[in-house]
Amino acid sequence: MSGPRPVRAPRGSELSARGWPQEAALRMLQNNLDPEVAEHPDNLVVYGGTGKAARDWASFDAMVRTLRTLGDDETMLVQSGRPVGVMRTHEWAPRVLLANSNLVGDWANWEEFRRLDALGLTMYGQMTAGSWIYIGTQGILQGTYETFAAVAAKRFGGTLAGTITLTAGLGGMGGAQPLAVTMNGGVAVCVECDPSRIERRIGHGYLDVRAHSLDHALELATKARDERRPLSVGVLGNAAEVVPQLLDRGAPVDIVTDQTSAHDPLAYLPVGVDFDDMARYAADKPADFTRRARESMARHVEAMVGFMDAGAEVFDYGNSIRGEAQLHGYGRAFDFPGFVPAYIRPLFCEGKGPFRWAALSGDPKDIAATDRALLELFPASESPQNESLARWLRLAGERVHYQGLPARICWLGYGERDRAGERFNDMVASGELSAPLVLGRDHLDCGSVASPYRETEAMLDGSDAIADWPLLNAMVNASSGATWVSIHHGGGVGMGRSIHAGQVTVADGTALAGEKLRRVLTNDPGMGVVRHVDAGYERAEEIAAERDVRVPMREG
Ligand code: NAD
Repeated sequence: MSGPRPVRAPRGSELSARGWPQEAALRMLQNNLDPEVAEHPDNLVVYGGTGKAARDWASFDAMVRTLRTLGDDETMLVQSGRPVGVMRTHEWAPRVLLANSNLVGDWANWEEFRRLDALGLTMYGQMTAGSWIYIGTQGILQGTYETFAAVAAKRFGGTLAGTITLTAGLGGMGGAQPLAVTMNGGVAVCVECDPSRIERRIGHGYLDVRAHSLDHALELATKARDERRPLSVGVLGNAAEVVPQLLDRGAPVDIVTDQTSAHDPLAYLPVGVDFDDMARYAADKPADFTRRARESMARHVEAMVGFMDAGAEVFDYGNSIRGEAQLHGYGRAFDFPGFVPAYIRPLFCEGKGPFRWAALSGDPKDIAATDRALLELFPASESPQNESLARWLRLAGERVHYQGLPARICWLGYGERDRAGERFNDMVASGELSAPLVLGRDHLDCGSVASPYRETEAMLDGSDAIADWPLLNAMVNASSGATWVSIHHGGGVGMGRSIHAGQVTVADGTALAGEKLRRVLTNDPGMGVVRHVDAGYERAEEIAAERDVRVPMREG
């Protein structure tokens, strides 16, 4: 019987598989479970509540074994974290195809998912957990940084200096919030019910200090705000109690959001339950727990609406907390917007999204070299966008602590990702990088997700729930040469609420990889442009016209 053990991807340029594409998949699966990367590696949980990289340890072992022997004309099929077949394909085909957590519409709810999960038949893949391209908290950092930069531009004269942001959840993704706020010059107060998560974020340099009480947190925050000094403060507590308390006290909060794992009511701590009892209670009495969690989320959201009424900038940060509060019967849950329609959609229209890459060498110098290459490819002097890219790369170079294999996140758009990919592949070929890279992205991308409470909330043409787009996205990536491609359900916002696709492509310095990268990294963001043209966004139409994206209904 195989069981929990520390997993770490090999470093360096020696292969244990038959080629770099297979080796890349192997190392990225292992990297997702590295204790530095995964939030709860013993349970194979990478991030986002219960988002897993493999269904069980036996499946993990079988995937490792299979990837080591997989040929260049073979494809491993993964059904919710378990390898179920190896098929003869061809060298342009993906080496791995994954489908995670997919359920037929009428059955697509947590109850049915949990029944099947308990039988060992499925697994929750979240987004990058089950598709092996999670790179730790950095993966969300730039998006969070850009979101807070957009808030600063909209309401606070371009900086968060002199403001206080209140949020909750310091998990794998939520842990990026404090650093994103301080990178924008502001003060963050972050409520978290698990003391080990507060310590982990401090250890990784994402959070500055832990307050010993709520009063202490407010004292630290207001002092830093008055001095216009960036500071992030973690405070232990239940957000469903602390956020209403802060509202009642009239705490001077300018911005409110939340990244607790609200998408999964069994991962949100209800009021009146001790954190130490949470896991057992959720396992023993899921229906009771869910009811209490939703009731607490309603209190939490009601307080967020209270802050909004008092003049604060309030937004949902992609965890479905509004939907859960509404299920409990709170009528004003959707009074504040989600972050995509509020700040991110114009970027999606340009094919921009959370593009990322990881150095299979394990050498941080390789990432530093890719950072320099990007600054040369997109000179800061050429446009304000390039200038903000340069600012991001400088801040990331200074502030980001790598978890597992060194990696970089960088929001690039249509016509940019392919240039970066080709340059990186040339750098591998010339020996400028010491081993290949993998290039992938979050599923939270411009053309890869249907999620009416998040990425596709309030689409111009009302097409929020149309899920053809992520399926087309996966098919076009598989047809364009991606190394692995995945289709998931329920990521980000929970069961029944999203369908999304991922891709990862290896840059191993070969001419073949160059050809594949050119196609994948054009077509993948191209899906974002055509999806938004189809929905009637003018900015997407401009981009399509400027950059020659073919849209048949606009031709002829
Ligand atoms: P996670 O499970 O790693 O962390 C969630 C944290 O919330 C945990 O540390 C938990 O202790 C804490 N928590 C739970 N209930 C609480 C309560 N009542 N009060 C205070 N703290 C509480 O999850 P994550 O990866 O950080 O993701 C958080 C949420 O954000 C998820 O719903 C996820 O789907 C969503 N998400 C959003 C984006 C985005 O771009 N906005 C991206 C990825 C994930």
